[in-house]
Amino acid sequence: MNQLAERLSRISEPQTIKMAKLGRELKAQGIDIVDLSIGEPDFNTPEHIREAAKKAIDEGFTHYTPVAGIAELRQAVIHKLKRDNGLDYTPEQIVVCTGAKQCLANAVLALVDPGDEVIIPTPYWVTYSEQVKLCQGEVVFVPCGIENNYKITPAQLEAAITPKTKLFMFSSPCNPTGSVYSREELAALAEVFEKHPQIYIISDEIYEYINYVGKHESIAQFGDLKNRTILINGLSKGFAMTGWRLGYLAAPLDIAKACDKIQSQFTSATCSITQRAAVTALTGDLSSATAMVEEFKKRRAYIHEALKAIPGLQVNDPEGAFYMFPNISAFFGKSFEGQTINNADDLCMYLLHRAHVSTVTGAAFEQPNCIRLSYATSMDKLQEGVKRMKEWLGKLS
Ligand code: PMP
Repeated sequence: MNQLAERLSRISEPQTIKMAKLGRELKAQGIDIVDLSIGEPDFNTPEHIREAAKKAIDEGFTHYTPVAGIAELRQAVIHKLKRDNGLDYTPEQIVVCTGAKQCLANAVLALVDPGDEVIIPTPYWVTYSEQVKLCQGEVVFVPCGIENNYKITPAQLEAAITPKTKLFMFSSPCNPTGSVYSREELAALAEVFEKHPQIYIISDEIYEYINYVGKHESIAQFGDLKNRTILINGLSKGFAMTGWRLGYLAAPLDIAKACDKIQSQFTSATCSITQRAAVTALTGDLSSATAMVEEFKKRRAYIHEALKAIPGLQVNDPEGAFYMFPNISAFFGKSFEGQTINNADDLCMYLLHRAHVSTVTGAAFEQPNCIRLSYATSMDKLQEGVKRMKEWLGKLS
């Protein structure tokens, strides 16, 4: 007898995590896998941040903290949002969470009732829809094409809005496409939102620092949108701190209070030691973060050109994050030794089992003509991965 709650049937495990698991299993069998499926920087956390954590342990800073984070950290978040984004918040509007993922969960739980519509431009990050479904919200996907670099246009947004629309969720820079919304593009979307004051916005800015086109812009900067935007950010990507588990949200007071309340019944505060380290990360020297981005930039330049040189791949032009999202539909219907590629899932499995290169199917991100490749790995591995892909894709006919 299946005794699991019905809600489990509404959601699935992220394909990103599944692929990482599969890759690990093959590696454990002794197979040399080039892992381009991972969504985390391959760098170590900067030393001054690690030192702050060690100090916290040595000082015995190892107890429960206020649910929404220590006062010093909430001040550091306020400082960061002013310095980098020109936005003013009060401490009560900041909630520190166990990763940006928990920020998203808090905000979705705080806002979405059964039947509420949530607009998500696709390709999108896998977790958004599943959190909405857990709350019995209705996911409204808006497919965005390569011709607009996978970004939603104001006309598409307007067309997707109904009286039931409660929330809009997106990321810029975007996982999986690397697309970055410019100031002009955000201003144009903001004009649409101005006409629909009932809609809230979750702006996931976790890749803020990994941006190759210049200054990051937040939708919260436009018009009155700060009063209905839940700005989400964290340390995972920009400071190479995925395992530390710290994200933060800045929101209108009532929503921040609701998130604090929800979090108080799930996890309480995130790790006290991580919080101390986060103060150092947010207020300290940013040069190690900048150096990391410079390295990503070099890898991006390499992989962009290398993928473009592989016949059959239609390659997008990512402006941020550390992913490429090539269209691979030219391989559909092609075969090798009786194995036919019918979709992106098949191509990922072909690349994994034949080329020993791990990628993620675009189907996971609601774009079934693409695959996602992460370049958050060493240049040697990237070169080896591209070489293997070229060889094995070339065998398909
Ligand atoms: N948002 C996006 C777009 C992401 O790619 C990720 C991590 N893959 C997260 C949020 C979650 O980040 P965290 O590790 O802080 O929970």
